[in-house]
Amino acid sequence: MDNLIKHLENLAQLDAIASLESQVFHYMHKHLSLVSDEVMTDGLGSVFGVKKSKVNNAKKVLLAGHMDEVGFMVKGINEVGSLSIYPVGGWWSQTLMSQRVRVTTHDGKVYKGAIGSIPPHLLTEAKRNAVVDIADLLVDVGATSKDEVLKMGINLGDMVVLDGGFERLNDQRILSKALDNRYGCAMALCMLEAFKDIDLPFDLIAGATVQEEVGLRGAQTAAVLTQPDIAIVYDCSPANDAAGDKDVLGKLGQGVLLRFVDASMLPNRCMIERLKQTAINHELPYQYYLSLGGTDAGAIHKANMGVPTLTMCIVARNIHTSSSICDVNDLNAAYEASKHFLSELNDDAINDMIKCNQ
Ligand SMILES: [Zn+2]
Repeated sequence: MDNLIKHLENLAQLDAIASLESQVFHYMHKHLSLVSDEVMTDGLGSVFGVKKSKVNNAKKVLLAGHMDEVGFMVKGINEVGSLSIYPVGGWWSQTLMSQRVRVTTHDGKVYKGAIGSIPPHLLTEAKRNAVVDIADLLVDVGATSKDEVLKMGINLGDMVVLDGGFERLNDQRILSKALDNRYGCAMALCMLEAFKDIDLPFDLIAGATVQEEVGLRGAQTAAVLTQPDIAIVYDCSPANDAAGDKDVLGKLGQGVLLRFVDASMLPNRCMIERLKQTAINHELPYQYYLSLGGTDAGAIHKANMGVPTLTMCIVARNIHTSSSICDVNDLNAAYEASKHFLSELNDDAINDMIKCNQ
């Protein structure tokens, strides 16, 4: 569990948007290599460590989180040196003004900057109440001309992410950018670390996909690469509990999610029931959750001839902003539930999952 928080902190402070995930790729590759028999990669940049079973023709269990965070690409450079930006992944424009950013050039130089915001003194009442359009936002990296920006090495297509440092607010709560979904990357890594010296009756394939935030693209190729018999996807779902409404699903600190439906997948019933029983047997908190969004599970469960798939998500507040907040209790519940789920998994259980809807 300490590993999980350490990896989460390290991973969350790396910068990776869809198609520019190399910082997270290298971290994952390095740490997966230490605990795997083999590391697999595909042509889009996903990476998985494989822990082989001693059993012949063992079934394959895939664990995956996605590497990319929501961010931007530089879309234009104007004559006074400001950058316009193109969103990569889902943003609400109101979370963006005056945020600090990091711009990474194609050759790896990193520049700090800020998204501009017109001071209230200069705004009419109508403008003050209007929602801003991302197309109108400008990033200031301190340059005074287009030439200066180009000399810095910044060009169109370069990565822009919001800065959002990792903070322990107290014993329970963590604040950072990119908890969605370095949580998933850290979980996949931690499972291989946890089972490093333990024989399992199945091949454990754990790692991270690319390009989830733009439509589960890396998950498609990762499923072809890894050929799983069943899969577990780790991701962060939105909590909407801060106003204290008792009826909302997905409360911070209330445990791992039984995500019984989402916009891209209906989970395998035997798997979700097993997750619930695992949580009950080990006295871990769990909560039902219905999501209007999707995860990589949406692509993986439809891959090949169909892959029984489950999500093991936690909720975080303010996802897709620079300031997401998650709860250590939830991290612990997901970590322990995942570990027990896997250590109690065998061929019969996997076959039951495959035949679950028959
Ligand atoms: Zn996500």
